[in-house]
Amino acid sequence: MSTVATANDPTPYRGRFAPSPTGPLHAGSLVAALASFLDARHCSGAWQLRVDDIDPPRAVAGSVEAITGALSAHGLFWDGPLVFQSASDTRYERALQRLTNMGCLFRCRCTRATLSDRGSCGQNCEDREISSGEPHSLRVKTHPEQMHGFEDRFLGIQSVFADTIPKDFIVKRRDGLYAYQLAAAIDDAQPHFTHIVRGADLLDSTYRQRWLQQLLKLEAPAYGHVPVVLDEAGNKLSKQAGAAALDTRQPEDNLRAGLRHLGQTAPPSSARSVAEILTHAVEYWTVGK
Ligand code: GLU
Repeated sequence: MSTVATANDPTPYRGRFAPSPTGPLHAGSLVAALASFLDARHCSGAWQLRVDDIDPPRAVAGSVEAITGALSAHGLFWDGPLVFQSASDTRYERALQRLTNMGCLFRCRCTRATLSDRGSCGQNCEDREISSGEPHSLRVKTHPEQMHGFEDRFLGIQSVFADTIPKDFIVKRRDGLYAYQLAAAIDDAQPHFTHIVRGADLLDSTYRQRWLQQLLKLEAPAYGHVPVVLDEAGNKLSKQAGAAALDTRQPEDNLRAGLRHLGQTAPPSSARSVAEILTHAVEYWTVGK
């Protein structure tokens, strides 16, 4: 079994669930919320709710209310106030400034049509003069030989393979918005959060976020990735692909399904209420492989 933080650890556990406000919670996002909640509570830690609202064009009105309502219906109550990433612009801008001063960024004029492998710049923009007035994104260069692997608490050792890491990736978009990779890298670093538990579809992002944390000398949290929920065709459930919203009238069934998906011991049939199911799940939570 992998290690979990205990109440005796010097840094108190701080975990989070970080949905984007792009639609209601579905069975897949419930699994991510549930896993991060159970891990935090099992370790007597704090669990916060951060709304990743840095992409207004993708935001869907009413999502925050729908997400918080569904979490509450499932007994997943968070600590402290809701945190909105949109309030952190100055933090992101300062980080970009530092990366620029360190010579880690370059302007890129690529559009979707000119991208290379895994979304890297496809036109050698790094070696071109691109003025600040020209439409461009900002990209950070990667150096796989300097990137550290890490131990995923659920998946075990993760090594960095040069051919799976993009040459570079976007930290500020062409439309002027901060990229998810930048915002998450900064907001997830310690002391904000000590443990990040989320879906395995974000493992690629973890490499990028850890690279930014490394460059910015931020202390990385511990990461753990849980299996994603797939639809009948084998695709990840996602809000963009129109996954059905959770039926909040049957939270007990949804929680039991989530626990099954996460390979947890089933709560006894005597546990009927949301609170009873969660109490059992917190106690018996295991991150073993
Ligand atoms: N907000 C992003 C999402 O909903 C990121 C989640 C995360 O980093 O946990 O996919």
